[in-house]
Amino acid sequence: MATYDFSAPRLYVRNDLAAGYAVPLDKAQTNYLANVLRLSAGAHVLIFNGRDGEWLAEVAQESRKSMALVPQRQLRPQPAAPDLIYMFAPLKHARIDYMAQKAVEMGAGILAPVLTRHTQVSRVNDERLEANAVEAAEQCGILSVPEIRAPMRLVEALATLEAERLLIFCDEDAPVANAVEALSMQRDKIAGRGVAVLIGPEGGFDEEERQLILRREPVLRLSLGPRILRADTAAVAALAVVQAVLGDWGAATSQESAAATPL
Ligand code: SAH
Repeated sequence: MATYDFSAPRLYVRNDLAAGYAVPLDKAQTNYLANVLRLSAGAHVLIFNGRDGEWLAEVAQESRKSMALVPQRQLRPQPAAPDLIYMFAPLKHARIDYMAQKAVEMGAGILAPVLTRHTQVSRVNDERLEANAVEAAEQCGILSVPEIRAPMRLVEALATLEAERLLIFCDEDAPVANAVEALSMQRDKIAGRGVAVLIGPEGGFDEEERQLILRREPVLRLSLGPRILRADTAAVAALAVVQAVLGDWGAATSQESAAATPL
């Protein structure tokens, strides 16, 4: 289990972090600490910005309405960002919120919305995606917030992948085969390089898209079992097997996993 302090609240801030340099909080953050958590001056909060590691900070009450956090000392160094690209056909409202949060908890370093033929939404609220990613990062103890890419059409999204990055294509039409064995066979090939995981929309991939994806080498057509999973379920299932077989679920301790480059 993690060896860091789960009792202290964690807050993502954008400011640089250095001992003694107060970080002013915005209204929402002040409200959260003062009125939701009912913290007062001197209370401890863990803060991170995705660049300077995790710091122990103390609450400083600047006035009734405004609070600041004063970093005291660094608790954990900044690990490399996870090299796992999560490509997904955006879903509607609460389900995309859920999917974004789960992808972050499961170790995605980049969230890449992909617009496919059956995708049911044409616009993605990137501020909402970012807010969900921040909330998940604060909750699950990671020290960086995933990069959120602008929505792209499938062809463009595939073209953004580095030539050697393995694309793990979760295909609802794939013949049922053991996902752990299929991923294990990739282990030597990707040695230390990142992967991308692709999940389609509620309506699945159409045949033309499937052929386009399968032509993009290196690609692994992955079955997630004999049942058709909802896209948000498939997200968690796929990222679980990927992290267990190829990613940071194998690291010795959570500290190492938090610090390690997972893929
Ligand atoms: N056409 C079906 C499939 C959609 S499921 C439907 O309309 O319900 C949404 C996505 O989850 C799929 O595109 C795929 O990426 C993933 N998925 C769901 N079940 C899967 C399975 N058994 N194997 C692999 N991927 C799966």
